[in-house]
Amino acid sequence: MKEIWDALVIGAGIGGLTSAAYLAKEGLRVLLLERSPHIGGTAYVYHRKGFTFPMGPLGFSHPSLVRKVFEELGVGEDLKFLKTHYRLHAFGLDLSLSFPFDQLKNELSTHFPEDAEGVGQFFKDMDDLIFNREKSYVSQNLPAFEYLQKLIKDERLRRLLGSLGTRKPYSALPLLSAMWNLMGNIGIWFPEEGMESFCERLKRAILRSSGSRSLIRLNKAVSKIRVDQGKVLGISLDDGTGIDSSFVISNADYKSTFLKLIDPKAIPQKWYDAISNARLTNSVFQVCLGIDAQKIDPSPFKQAERLIYRRENKLSDERELDWSLPRVDPQALAAQEIEVSLLGKDREKENKLSLVLRVEADYHHFARFRLGWRKRSQEYQSYKSQLAQALVHEISSLFPGLEKSILVMDIATPLTFEDQGGRSGGAVAGWSWDYEDFRDGQPKELILTPVKGLYMAGHQAFSALFMGGIPTALESGRRAAYALLKGEGPTEDISIPGGIP
Ligand SMILES: Cc1cc2nc3c(=O)[nH]c(=O)nc-3n(C[C@H](O)[C@H](O)[C@H](O)COP(=O)(O)OP(=O)(O)OC[C@H]3O[C@@H](n4cnc5c(N)ncnc54)[C@H](O)[C@@H]3O)c2cc1C
Repeated sequence: MKEIWDALVIGAGIGGLTSAAYLAKEGLRVLLLERSPHIGGTAYVYHRKGFTFPMGPLGFSHPSLVRKVFEELGVGEDLKFLKTHYRLHAFGLDLSLSFPFDQLKNELSTHFPEDAEGVGQFFKDMDDLIFNREKSYVSQNLPAFEYLQKLIKDERLRRLLGSLGTRKPYSALPLLSAMWNLMGNIGIWFPEEGMESFCERLKRAILRSSGSRSLIRLNKAVSKIRVDQGKVLGISLDDGTGIDSSFVISNADYKSTFLKLIDPKAIPQKWYDAISNARLTNSVFQVCLGIDAQKIDPSPFKQAERLIYRRENKLSDERELDWSLPRVDPQALAAQEIEVSLLGKDREKENKLSLVLRVEADYHHFARFRLGWRKRSQEYQSYKSQLAQALVHEISSLFPGLEKSILVMDIATPLTFEDQGGRSGGAVAGWSWDYEDFRDGQPKELILTPVKGLYMAGHQAFSALFMGGIPTALESGRRAAYALLKGEGPTEDISIPGGIP
């Protein structure tokens, strides 16, 4: 006899888990299907020889929204969040980025006295854009790059203000102000019990709410969403099994859902084209290190657990990495901005430290090593180890002795985030943040689809991450569940950033 499911959810990332939990809470019988052998998607953490390493998030913002979701689902007990601090180690500065605006303004004015007035104006404009947008006199349509060019003389400062780091400003002003709001006002936080606790709580909410009526099935890759006459009928698994339901929530990203899982004829051409054209954020190259804490001096982490580092270079000597080459020079990669993060501070007691190094990386460069799902060409291992060694060597300038203190090293490339994390192009933060692609003052909800009964949940179900990744995924999961319960949609409106030529 065929099992009857009120709703199917594809993917057990934070968005899919949240949707399933809300539906189960409302008494629906939900089947959640996940391709990987674990829940969590990119919020998954894994363990190697006693060290804990992340697949993705190292923090989240909007703690009150996060808490509200867990409380509504009845799994918010004893939630404790620790504030995460960011510090810049670049441009000859050693400076907190997590200060409130007033403090940051004072610090930066001391370091850049010639730009003191511009710094004051910058934070006033950011304040206006965050809290008083209608009255703000700053032209919201200006690229951050152009705005800062006029306001600030020192290029190092333009980069710092324009990217919260060392990169050239790339976004529009509303998105930049949202990022400063997260960093300086609301803060970046970390769950005391670790990122995996979020996924475990959501899992508990799904299974507890509905007794044994709802299920999570791992190692179940959905290969098709079946649609007939504009309505969803169910899904097919890659082993050929068909499962019926009139409601499906997809936590697979947009490109996977609409370019791989659905017959293109089942959706309007303009919808298909918009998703094909839309660009995503870049990916990262990541090196996770298990460190013998007795062999290094961890004091650079005393004031902040996240360090934004860049080698001291004259900006005029700086070279853009040419990702179109078959190999990039490991030294050139090491000269880019590197985010250095300390995970599991408490493990210091056991003389174990987990360090994560991340540098922006181009998916297409690594795609040439891809032979299939989790299959790589022979040179991949040695190439990625050369790149990783260069990053480790570079970071030894902050932590002398680092190279000799390594007990475990695990390297991830954009291909890892694509295969293990389920992310098209290994993209870290959803739709492109570039000025050319996104300039709205507010993110738009992208939960409804042109297929009746099909909804989207996850970080791409909003047009931009003004709240940061985790809260966006939680909120989208909640909204997708309520849209389904109310029978909303379908829609042919397209608000995908950069999707409409
Ligand atoms: C390197 C990196 C760093 C990040 N750092 C941060 C951070 O510091 N702070 C922050 O807030 N956010 C961060 N993010 C973003 C963060 O991961 C997300 O915001 C959040 O975890 C995404 O959840 P999601 O619901 O979009 O699902 P995802 O994590 O994208 O998971 C989607 C799930 O769907 C599954 N799936 C896909 N296709 C199928 C299919 N056909 N069949 C079955 N299952 C399928 C995948 O296996 C996966 O489990 C980071 C992401 C990355 C990659």
